[in-house]
Amino acid sequence: MKGFEYLQEELNEMKQKGTFRKLVPLESDQSSKVKINGKEVIQLSSNNYLGLTTHPRLRKAALEAVEHYGAGTGSVRTIAGTFSMHEELEQKLAKFKHTEAALVFQSGFTTNQGVLSAILTPEDVVISDELNHASIIDGIRLTKSGRKVYKHVDMEDLEKALQETQNYRKRLIVTDGVFSMDGNIAPLPKIVELAEKYDALIMVDDAHASGVLGKNGRGTVNHFDLDGRVHIQVGTLSKAVGVLGGYVASTQTLIDYLIHKGRPFLFSTSHPPAVTAACIEAINVLLEEPELIEKLWDNTSFLKEGLLKLGFNTGHSQTPITPVIVGDEALTHQFSDKLLEYGVFAQGIAFPTVAKGLGRVRTIVTAEHSKEELQQALNSFEKAGKELGII
Ligand code: PMP
Repeated sequence: MKGFEYLQEELNEMKQKGTFRKLVPLESDQSSKVKINGKEVIQLSSNNYLGLTTHPRLRKAALEAVEHYGAGTGSVRTIAGTFSMHEELEQKLAKFKHTEAALVFQSGFTTNQGVLSAILTPEDVVISDELNHASIIDGIRLTKSGRKVYKHVDMEDLEKALQETQNYRKRLIVTDGVFSMDGNIAPLPKIVELAEKYDALIMVDDAHASGVLGKNGRGTVNHFDLDGRVHIQVGTLSKAVGVLGGYVASTQTLIDYLIHKGRPFLFSTSHPPAVTAACIEAINVLLEEPELIEKLWDNTSFLKEGLLKLGFNTGHSQTPITPVIVGDEALTHQFSDKLLEYGVFAQGIAFPTVAKGLGRVRTIVTAEHSKEELQQALNSFEKAGKELGII
C-alpha cells in the first residue's frame, strides 16, 4: 500500500548509517540465559533485577489467579474493573513505600504521564533533570504548565531554577531516582534540602531503584532515609518486580485526585488477575527473600570491576545498570552484534535514547546470574572489545 514513502526514506537513511535495529525475539523465558536464534546466550539486557519473572512463587500466584478469576477484567478501574486484589496490591505497595496510599497504573510510562498531566496547570511549574526518562518528558509535554530543565544532577542549576520560579503557585521538582541509561543515583538529600528551602514538591521516578535500593528494595527515598519527605514516589512493577505495571505512592489526597483525574488510569482497562496476583506475590518475595537483593549487589560489583579492569569506560554508574560507553552509534551496534555472536545479549543503545556520540552497550546484571556466567560474559566483552578496537 502506498502512503508511507516519507517514513520509508527515513528508515532507509537509518539503514545506511547502520542504526536501523531489528527486534530480538527471545525463544525462552526471561532468565540469566535466554535463547536467541536457537542459541543460548547470557542475558545482560533485561530489567529483571531479581529474577522474579520466573520465580516459582510468582508463577503459582499467576496461575491460581487465572483459575479463580479468569484471564481479563473487562473494564477500566473506575467502572467495573476494580477487583479486591487490585486494592490489596495498592495497600501493600503503600505499606512497602511507607506512604498513606498508592495507585497502580498500566505501566510505569503511563504512571508518569498520568501523574504529571493531572496535577500541573499553567499556574504551576515543573523543574526536571535533563536526563529524566522519556515518560517524564512526555508527561510534561502533556501539560500547559511552566517548565524548566536543570543540568543533569547539577544542584546549583536546580537552585537557580527554583529562584527563577518563585511566582508560580506550585513548583514540582521531578527526577529519576536511578538514571536508566547511566545507572547513577539522583542526589536526593540535596534535592530535598532545596525543595524544603523553596517550598517545592518532589516527585521521584524509582523505576530502577524499587527492588534494588533501600531496605528490601524500597527505593531511593528509603535508601537515603528520606521517608516522609518526598511527596510523590513512582515505581514500576515491570522491572525488579518482574511483572507489568506502574504505581504512584503518596498521600491519600493525591491518590484520590488521580482516581478522578489520572487519564491513563481512567480510560484504560485494569490489569488482568494474573498480573495483579503475581505483583502481590513479588512484594511478599521482596519482604521475605532479601538475599536476592544481596546477590544482585554482589553480582553488580563483580561485573563492574571486571569491565573496569578490562579498560572499558563504564561512566558513573552506582547501581546494577552498568553502561559500557562506546561513543559512535554504528560502532555501538557492531559491538552489541559481536557480543551476541560471542554468547552475550547486551543491547546497543544510541540516539535518541542517549545523547548523540554517547552510544553504549548497557548491561544489567541480575541476582540470577552465576559468577561463571558473568566471567564468561567478561571474556566475550574482552574478545569483542579488542577486535573492534574499543579497548
Ligand atoms: N521510568 C524509567 C526511569 C524507566 O526506565 C522506565 C522503563 N523504561 C519507565 C519509567 C517505564 O516503565 P514501564 O516499562 O513499566 O512502562
